[in-house]
Amino acid sequence: MAMVFIGLGSNLNDPEKQLRQAMVAISELTGLDVITDSGLFKTRAMTLNDEQQPDYFNAVVKVETTMNPYQLLDALQSIENNQGRVREHKWGSRSLDLDILLYGDLQVSDERLTLPHPEMAKRAFVLFPLQHIDTDLTIPGVGHLQDLLKNVSAGDVQYAGAL
Ligand code: ATP
Ligand code: CA
Ligand code: CA
Repeated sequence: MAMVFIGLGSNLNDPEKQLRQAMVAISELTGLDVITDSGLFKTRAMTLNDEQQPDYFNAVVKVETTMNPYQLLDALQSIENNQGRVREHKWGSRSLDLDILLYGDLQVSDERLTLPHPEMAKRAFVLFPLQHIDTDLTIPGVGHLQDLLKNVSAGDVQYAGAL
């Protein structure tokens, strides 16, 4: 069994509904149990080239799973596809994005998977939800959550209630 944190994001087609639907789909996966979730956070879009994009809703869910990281990535990408994700350009608007943030204390980097998620340490919309779940978390190879939080802006992320 591995303890895993999954990041959820959406800014298209009723984002709150997208995240709730994704939570149900995740909880129904075989070989996975949901432990807890962060609740909903509303966050400003991270864009390239000053593109205008609707605000995002983000959340983090903590699960326990017997799936290996690649099986889990396959399962999460199926859920994204089922919810109508269209792969546009990098960081484009999307109905659903599911990232594996942490998979136990595993550190890997290959063409399909990098763990911990390479950008998570810089992202307020990941770190604040994580803090709602575990204030004492350490990111393997990166550092302590509380130290990482000092370098991101809380103004970009608003708690928006239970998921
Ligand atoms: P970012 O990774 O910066 O959050 P993104 O989520 O928009 O950007 P995607 O287009 O969703 O990027 O994913 C591109 C690829 O990233 C996926 O096909 C997957 O193989 C790879 N990937 C690498 N590491 C991870 C991870 N930890 N979780 C999810 N996908 C990952
Ligand atoms: Ca992402
Ligand atoms: Ca992704």
